[in-house]
Amino acid sequence: DLFYRQMPKVELHAHLNGSVSFSTIEKLMARKPHLNIEHNMTAILSGQKRTLDECFQVFKVIHQLIDTEEDILMVAKDVIREFAEDGVKYLELRTTPREDKNTGMTKRSYVQTVIEAIRQCKNEGLDIEVRLLVSVDRRHGVEVAMKTVKLAEDFMRSTDGFVVGLDLSGDPTVGHGGDLLPALQKAKNCGLKLSLHLSEVPSQVDESELLLNIPPDRIGHGTFLHPEVGGAQSLVDKVMKNNTPLGKNVLSNQRSTIKVYEYIPPHKHQSDFGPLVFCSIQTDDRGVFCTELSKEYQLAASTFSLSREAMWSLSQKAIDFTFAPDSLKQQLHQKWFELHPSLF
Ligand code: IMP
Repeated sequence: DLFYRQMPKVELHAHLNGSVSFSTIEKLMARKPHLNIEHNMTAILSGQKRTLDECFQVFKVIHQLIDTEEDILMVAKDVIREFAEDGVKYLELRTTPREDKNTGMTKRSYVQTVIEAIRQCKNEGLDIEVRLLVSVDRRHGVEVAMKTVKLAEDFMRSTDGFVVGLDLSGDPTVGHGGDLLPALQKAKNCGLKLSLHLSEVPSQVDESELLLNIPPDRIGHGTFLHPEVGGAQSLVDKVMKNNTPLGKNVLSNQRSTIKVYEYIPPHKHQSDFGPLVFCSIQTDDRGVFCTELSKEYQLAASTFSLSREAMWSLSQKAIDFTFAPDSLKQQLHQKWFELHPSLF
């Protein structure tokens, strides 16, 4: 639907290596034919279901294809360009720094290269503002997490405000988020905004309680946050108390075998969860799940019978959940204001 493509949108939850389109994957395959990678190893097509474990195998394959600074630069630029083509005006990318002994890529040069891609897109005049969250992969434990926080902090201080926060992600069935608290606390204390994946699977109640106490600035997934789950204070009460926006990923939750309570549409959300909590629509892994943010909006609109105006206000509301400085938020609101008449 052209309307949702043209509607200005905010993407707050996009994992860089999960957002690689098929055309970029093809370029990567041509660079590395010896890997013998086929398309069904890097994406989950419509109608296919995979277990969570199988989804995480897909990332391993993609990571094999992207192992040099040159790859990262191309991938990040393509991803940014494609989000811009889909009408995204503000993009918060997140990515886990990787090193590769064979190619000489270090975690620092990895982040540097993503920032270089953001800069180049800006200089080329693309109509999209991009910021970066550095991801901590929960599987790697607290020592690595501490180093990642240090790296994120260095970049936050040294680069024109491109790095704004820290993301906690990775296979939710591996490791315990509680072990990573010192690193997350350190990130918070130095001024990095925190976006944490939590309650992605049902077994994470204790962990979610600990993580919600920090508290995070945004929540990814939160699929199993429910008013009846939790100790003395339910997890949802905690979220409400801290006014934490929830991120919901409509398609990624449908295609993996995560059982969702339900995607919570904004109007329902207001009555069931109180007026303070809100959710925004995001892609998660646009390449892996073969989706676009405009598609997710359209899907949410049809699933919950929401009007175009309601979807518009949902996209505008997401500006307030970004980790952008206030001046940029104001510019974005102005852009939405100016574009509104052309679409309605
Ligand atoms: P990257 O950080 O740019 O390499 O993007 C891929 C990585 O994002 C994966 O290896 C995971 O660590 C993380 N990721 C992507 N999707 C999800 C998700 O749905 N839940 C948790 N982690 C995820």
